[in-house]
Amino acid sequence: MSEAPTVLPPEVDAVVCGGGPGGSTAATVLARAGLSVALFERERFPRFHVGESLLPFNLPLLERLGVHEKVAAARFQVKYGARFYHQGSDHTRFIRFANSFDGAPPSAYQVKRAEFDLLLLHHARESGAAVHEGARVEEVLFEGTRATGVRVRLAGEAVPREVRAKVVVDATGRDALLSNVVGGRVRDPWLDRSGIFAHFDRFGRAEGPEGGDIVIVTTPDGWWWLIPFADGSVSVGVVMPSRRLKERTGSVEELYEAARASTPEVSRLLEGATRTTQVHHIADYSYTTAALRGDGFVLVGDAACFLDPVFSTGVLMAMTSGEMAGLAIAGALRRKGRVDAADFAPLERLYRRAVRRFRAFVHGFYQPHVLETFYTPAPHVEIERAVTTVLAGGVFAPSLKSRFWAAMFHVSAQIVRLQQAMRGKGPFERATGIVTPAP
Ligand SMILES: Cc1cc2nc3c(=O)[nH]c(=O)nc-3n(C[C@H](O)[C@H](O)[C@H](O)COP(=O)(O)OP(=O)(O)OC[C@H]3O[C@@H](n4cnc5c(N)ncnc54)[C@H](O)[C@@H]3O)c2cc1C
Repeated sequence: MSEAPTVLPPEVDAVVCGGGPGGSTAATVLARAGLSVALFERERFPRFHVGESLLPFNLPLLERLGVHEKVAAARFQVKYGARFYHQGSDHTRFIRFANSFDGAPPSAYQVKRAEFDLLLLHHARESGAAVHEGARVEEVLFEGTRATGVRVRLAGEAVPREVRAKVVVDATGRDALLSNVVGGRVRDPWLDRSGIFAHFDRFGRAEGPEGGDIVIVTTPDGWWWLIPFADGSVSVGVVMPSRRLKERTGSVEELYEAARASTPEVSRLLEGATRTTQVHHIADYSYTTAALRGDGFVLVGDAACFLDPVFSTGVLMAMTSGEMAGLAIAGALRRKGRVDAADFAPLERLYRRAVRRFRAFVHGFYQPHVLETFYTPAPHVEIERAVTTVLAGGVFAPSLKSRFWAAMFHVSAQIVRLQQAMRGKGPFERATGIVTPAP
């Protein structure tokens, strides 16, 4: 028996393009505000996706969306912190989220995104959004400069359909359907890096509650992540300069295996483990977009901006911007029945400020003076708490105290930079092999 054709309303209050964390969040907020919402997702969930380590500041957001109970019931791996090691040296830093400022929850989750994204998408549906999977948005429709709806092709249909909307949310991730409309992408030359990753069936995780921590191994020109899951398996990825991926002679898989073999800390942790997925890669991934908004439309999550994932910031940024977009739209429609670019100005300001706070640390992570400061064996207590707060995702509304001590971290790093310049290639550089990268 053939399926009945999907019924689409000719007009809704809001169309959300993309059903990742950013899109599901925006759709949930809009539906809970009583608006009619159609979400179109190209794939059928569950689907594989990178980005598996969440941050503590994700938890209050899950609570506000009314989905935290479902996430807790799914029994994802709980993580209480992060364990940093530097390849070939005895530099380590163990971060405990309980040590943060600003009321950060003491833990977060490590999630297989196939399961987590499906759960969020179901929640959007249960909140009242009409969710359509296997539905690719081909084009956002405009009248002048105002977005007025989308042209969407449903799976198995030859002819696309049109749905009109008062507002369109672009949550299409790295595809960024609308980025050309707002002036295109701006790449970050300091972060010209690529990631290669796969899942393994097990690894040598730490004993006790720390066994759920993300493990980061920094290397002279990049870093590895090991993200433990509740079923004992692990996500293992390496981030390297994009040129190494582009100039490789063999396959991506060979490059990944060679990089693994040359990082003893990672090979040791994966002794006896079997790879359970294919090797995936994403090239050249850091960018911002010239503008995030216009009349009747807004970009959220990776569609708007993507920052090197060393601090696991992507899902938090996507969900926070999705929530802010949903609230701004609901407020504007209630007040005046339409949504203008100006209604998203506070979102853009807050979002860009948060990105800047993260970026200051991410840039530093590729520079020897910042790494030496980070790995210092006896960190200043308040500075360490401020750094932990940033690593917990506390960048949207940090307290004065937290901002002050985070600034002191950067000041300390500048002092270390001077010391490094005066002593020439010193013990840290010799031990770590790190050299300052040219932008
Ligand atoms: C190597 C690497 C490691 C990472 N590690 C982490 C991490 O540990 N923690 C973390 O928080 N983040 C991490 N991230 C970032 C994280 O993956 C993203 O920031 C996050 O998924 C963004 O969510 P989103 O909803 O904006 O986009 P996505 O999750 O990409 O969702 C976009 C959705 O839109 C759909 N779509 C695309 N085009 C269309 C269309 N035309 N019509 C309909 N649907 C469409 C796609 O199918 C997709 O499902 C990492 C990223 C990389 C590259």
